[in-house]
Amino acid sequence: MTNALVIGAGLAGLTAALRLHQAGHDVTVLEARDRVGGRALSLPVAQGGIDLGSAWIWPAYQPRVVALLKELGLTTLAQYEDGDFIYEAAAQTQRGAFPKRYSDAARIRGGVQRLAKKLAVTLPQGTIRFGQVVRAIDLAHCPHVETESATWDAEVVVCAVPGPIVSTWDMTPAWSPEVSQALTQWPTWMAAHAKLVALYDKPFWRDAGLSGGAVSHVGPLFEVADQSDPEANFFGLFGFVGVPFDERQDREMLVEQSLAQLSRLFGPQAAQPTKVEIMDWAAEPFTATPFDQTPPNGHPPYGAPALSHPVADRLIFAGAEVSQRNGGLIEGAIETGERAAAKVSPALVS
Ligand SMILES: Cc1cc2nc3c(=O)[nH]c(=O)nc-3n(C[C@H](O)[C@H](O)[C@H](O)COP(=O)(O)OP(=O)(O)OC[C@H]3O[C@@H](n4cnc5c(N)ncnc54)[C@H](O)[C@@H]3O)c2cc1C
Repeated sequence: MTNALVIGAGLAGLTAALRLHQAGHDVTVLEARDRVGGRALSLPVAQGGIDLGSAWIWPAYQPRVVALLKELGLTTLAQYEDGDFIYEAAAQTQRGAFPKRYSDAARIRGGVQRLAKKLAVTLPQGTIRFGQVVRAIDLAHCPHVETESATWDAEVVVCAVPGPIVSTWDMTPAWSPEVSQALTQWPTWMAAHAKLVALYDKPFWRDAGLSGGAVSHVGPLFEVADQSDPEANFFGLFGFVGVPFDERQDREMLVEQSLAQLSRLFGPQAAQPTKVEIMDWAAEPFTATPFDQTPPNGHPPYGAPALSHPVADRLIFAGAEVSQRNGGLIEGAIETGERAAAKVSPALVS
């Protein structure tokens, strides 16, 4: 029997696992996918990585991610915003020095998934069990977790999986009405979205005095930004796809229309990328349920109080959407991972 079982190898689960390991506990992480990072996923490119999931942190307001990056020896680069921004509407397209949109934002060098990978290699080998899809938890006795292929016992469980997924599990005893409601109150942050990245040999937009930033009401991309890292030898743009989930299943057409839009915005070279990749998070069963496929209107008030208390003294929730101050964000994932570890640690026999 392991003494702490962490479910989910996203940034929250991995942070909890690291802190529990550092406190001297025996930890096992159950992860459904065959990789770490969850919504932190970076496409390897040249000497770096371009983000297909989360990309930005805001170091001025996010002390936990800054401290963790420092602890793990990772560095950041500022979001590039030199040059003109483009605003595309049906009636006209405007180019100009609009107020900076991402002035405080930074990216993690190598991509956000690099942080997840660093956390993972800091844990003892074999700590993370991949392909373990949790389906049921029995908290009536010693916590007993069932995946599709195995059963696991532990003294405590840290549950770092998005709420709408957790709400589908078979629980003994059943979740309280408050927990049940909190798990399904809001869609998981950004789970409804798809992101397109296009890589290029040269940053032709920078050469033309453009920042690579755009907002569009024409689409299919509604927001575009530069995702290059010249030090790592790659140049790229990313865009959030503004087409609803049901209407964006024809990938070829989506790529064609997106490249046509990037050409309208930044010049004809945009039609000739060296690589294009689309990541549709709404189609990912370990991120999104059908409930998550429609985005919320604005940023939900995550951090339901019912999720901040231990359940049956044996299970504690972590995850970006559990955070009240940084709900849905990388900072919230780290904050709740650290908090969960601190809460369960004193109860564990090392
Ligand atoms: C397109 C996109 C853009 C984003 N942009 C930003 C940004 O710029 N800045 C920012 O701060 N945040 C951003 N986010 C949000 C950020 O990625 C998340 O806040 C953060 O990664 C959440 O980490 P987590 O560990 O809480 O959850 P997750 O990363 O979702 O991790 C949950 C883990 O649980 C696993 N899992 C799921 N089901 C099961 C199961 N049944 N059994 C076992 N394991 C399971 C998953 O595979 C996953 O590894 C973005 C997200 C997306 C998708």
